[in-house]
Amino acid sequence: MGGSRPNIAIVGGGIGGLFAANALMAHGLHVSVYEQALALGEVGAGVFLTPNSVRQLERIGLGPAVEKWGARVGPGSRYFRHDGTPIAPVQVTDSSGWNATFGMHRADLVELLAGAMPTGVVHTGHRCTAFEQSGDVSRVCFSNGAVVEADTVVAADGIHSELRPYVFPPSDPVFSGSVAYRGVLAHESVPNWPTDSWLMWLGKAKHFLTFPVRAGQVINYVGFVPADEQMKESWSSPGDPDVLRREFAGWDPRIESLLQQVQMTFRWALYDREPLPTWTRGRLTLLGDAAHPMLPHLGQGANQSIEDGMALATILARADRTTVPAALVAYERLRRERVAQVQRGARENGMRYDSAYADLGVRDTEIAAHAAFRKRLYDHDVVPEAQAAAMALT
Ligand SMILES: Cc1cc2nc3c(=O)[nH]c(=O)nc-3n(C[C@H](O)[C@H](O)[C@H](O)COP(=O)(O)OP(=O)(O)OC[C@H]3O[C@@H](n4cnc5c(N)ncnc54)[C@H](O)[C@@H]3O)c2cc1C
Repeated sequence: MGGSRPNIAIVGGGIGGLFAANALMAHGLHVSVYEQALALGEVGAGVFLTPNSVRQLERIGLGPAVEKWGARVGPGSRYFRHDGTPIAPVQVTDSSGWNATFGMHRADLVELLAGAMPTGVVHTGHRCTAFEQSGDVSRVCFSNGAVVEADTVVAADGIHSELRPYVFPPSDPVFSGSVAYRGVLAHESVPNWPTDSWLMWLGKAKHFLTFPVRAGQVINYVGFVPADEQMKESWSSPGDPDVLRREFAGWDPRIESLLQQVQMTFRWALYDREPLPTWTRGRLTLLGDAAHPMLPHLGQGANQSIEDGMALATILARADRTTVPAALVAYERLRRERVAQVQRGARENGMRYDSAYADLGVRDTEIAAHAAFRKRLYDHDVVPEAQAAAMALT
């Protein structure tokens, strides 16, 4: 490897950007993260971590913290019809039987990822407004007047990415026709709710999910309901708990009793994008939702962004300043097809969850059979193939 090691600027301090920063630093690379918000943070909601990303969190030394702050879900996890009739167990392990499926509070995960890095790596209050590159130099401009030069720029700035148009012509995200009401409840307000199970109820055009977070002290819920064009007006806004209760009236009484406790909820319009044909231009590449926003019906958006970060770090660790563009193309090649499969799979699974079937028996059989897909998803370890891609570069 000739030349010196590349320095990397990451735009966006969400789960994707912060994990990538940790992974790059673990590979000895110099990284800075630029986040538009004045402080790092996340909405009061859960995120579900699965073995394919927990494996990577362990590699950067965060396994014990995930065990401590997460809530492991186990064999009591189930799918039900809307009235509470059981359909099938939920796959909570990979094929080897390793149970590394955890509910986490999103704020806890962001804090763990940020806290694992030295101070000075993350620069808040930096909203990226422009990008340019020529030859060996790439430059990012921020609304506060700062201009940063780096050998590599990683756009981890989410579904509305400011930087994506520098890679691929702008396009509109695709509205799914659904919104998600999300929130958390202290377990003491629903003391009989299981603290070790992922539970989902499936009904006509709607589904309802709960899982524990923060070592079971808090229960995360999400209610997915149809929405028309008027209702989608914002990406994320406060929702009305009474409207949420009405949406699930007449469902399993367990849901009704949980929703009685809800005093505040957030509504999230669900969008994805068609898979992009390219993620990289020269020294700029995309990661996480900036590259591949997906519907949440496989619970994989954050998990895939973590896989992206580890793949990128493994490949860039073998690059020098001059070989960065080739390394970024190798990263993109490695990730694009797997992520596109997950994006498509999330759309298909949403149809199962929303019971878009004439014969629900067929749907129930597919839900049970889906365990095989989940095992393949969870078995994946992005590192060996990233190492092979990196070796091929040198
Ligand atoms: C209802 C719902 C449920 C979900 N549940 C799960 C789940 O269970 N499991 C799972 O794996 N995934 C889940 N996801 C998906 C997951 O939230 C995302 O895919 C994941 O967080 C990856 O995000 P990211 O870091 O790429 O982008 P984001 O989280 O959007 O972060 C982008 C960051 O970039 C910053 N930013 C934006 N623009 C700029 C700019 N111009 N300059 C500087 N900074 C900027 C933003 O402030 C933000 O901090 C869910 C999503 C939804 C909507």
